[in-house]
Amino acid sequence: MHEMSLVESIMDAILEMKEQNEWVRIRKIVLRIGDMRQVIPEIMVFAFRTASVSTPLEGAELVVKAVKLHFKCNDCQKEWGEENMAFLCPFCGSFEVKLIHGMELEIESLEVDDTNG
Ligand SMILES: [Zn+2]
Repeated sequence: MHEMSLVESIMDAILEMKEQNEWVRIRKIVLRIGDMRQVIPEIMVFAFRTASVSTPLEGAELVVKAVKLHFKCNDCQKEWGEENMAFLCPFCGSFEVKLIHGMELEIESLEVDDTNG
């Protein structure tokens, strides 16, 4: 289950931020994950619950937002979504296509307690 290794690297990043910013507690973690990552949000949440037990992140809520694939042609500059999922421009036939959304793996936001009060 590759979600587990993703969860572990995200947890490492958040724990480091927690340390640096002296946050007391993390309440909620919102992630943006591109469809190209082939992550199943429910499994990601399950993996997080399992991996966070007995860590400072235990009890935090994890929300996973999926980001749809989106392509752009470098030649004609047109953009299209995953309904036409080819690495070939459907408008001009160019192979100079790049994926502009769908590879995301990022923390969109965190809700934290930064004092003991
Ligand atoms: Zn094109």
